[in-house]
Amino acid sequence: MPHAGDYAVNAETGRFAKRSFGPAPGGEPTYLYALKNANGIEVAISNYGATIVSLKVPDRSGDFDDVVLGYSNLSDYLSHKNQYLGATIGRYANRIARGRFTLNGRDHRVPINNGPNALHGGKKGFDKRLWSEEPATESLGRELKLHYASRDGEEGFPGNLDVEVSFRLSDQNELSIDYGATTDQDTVLNLTNHAYFNLAGEGSGDILGHQVTLFASRFTPIDETLIPTGEIGVVRDTPFDFRQATAIGEHIEEPVEQLQWARGYDHNFVLDSDGRLALAARVAEPSSGRVLEVLTTEPGIQFYSGNFLDGGTTGKKRKTYGFRSGFSLETQHFPDSPNQPGFPSTVLKPGQRFQSTTVYRFSIE
Ligand code: BGC
Repeated sequence: MPHAGDYAVNAETGRFAKRSFGPAPGGEPTYLYALKNANGIEVAISNYGATIVSLKVPDRSGDFDDVVLGYSNLSDYLSHKNQYLGATIGRYANRIARGRFTLNGRDHRVPINNGPNALHGGKKGFDKRLWSEEPATESLGRELKLHYASRDGEEGFPGNLDVEVSFRLSDQNELSIDYGATTDQDTVLNLTNHAYFNLAGEGSGDILGHQVTLFASRFTPIDETLIPTGEIGVVRDTPFDFRQATAIGEHIEEPVEQLQWARGYDHNFVLDSDGRLALAARVAEPSSGRVLEVLTTEPGIQFYSGNFLDGGTTGKKRKTYGFRSGFSLETQHFPDSPNQPGFPSTVLKPGQRFQSTTVYRFSIE
């Protein structure tokens, strides 16, 4: 079986390599694209779900390992479709309470797929759609641009929405993701990438020893169905205070409802930034020395400690993905914003262009 990462990549020209990734459920071909930089960092992305399938970065001895959870072939993604490993999430990342919202006086319903709520865009979100490849321009070498046309009424959302996501790998070891979208009717939109990281290498056990810093003094507390209550909580003197580097495992088992309801961290943090591209998170893994920094233009970040991974799946190295064996840092607008007038708006109108950037920057310490 081909292993994700077995492709010839021409680092000289910086163009991506492309190979077949197997047929989609409707029989259409899907592809895996690889981008590689001058330092040997390599990312593989599938146009099924605009999904990051693998991401190889060096440790402090120069040894490369794949630091994202994923599968080596499309059929494994199809049979484990509710984990969203590495996928682009839309039209609405995270939850919409009871799958209902009102926009301009009209009620809309998104299919319920997570307890009483709609999660990650309903039953067939952007993570389960085929994206088409757009020609990358020469000046933007090492870039893959994918496009998806989401039709009016898809999963209950109004408006025909054109979405573009582009992945760019620089020689500064940054993987940048730019999202752009336009609509022909008022709609709501929240886009993110759902990479699960394990900086010690995917399949190498739990992530509790990773040291996390979040540039957020506030977060949005949740109810028992993981829907924000609408309050903005302060992190000071709570297990949610990651303003100084703290191991994920340090407070995760504290007997507080917020952690118990989510089985760990699964919360939106309100970033201290002002809408310009700024550092949102820094994660360091002590044994490998790998460091991930996340920068974003978004106002929030979902820190999810992989609490719903249960060992029921095996990844690229045929190792099982157990409880908390990966974490996600999903840059986003806040969950359930369409029902929360106090949260930053997620409404997109005709004539506006939605634009958002997230950067994953890798280094060692
Ligand atoms: C959610 C989790 C959910 C996970 C699914 C996260 O964004 O907040 O509650 O289980 O996605 O992979």
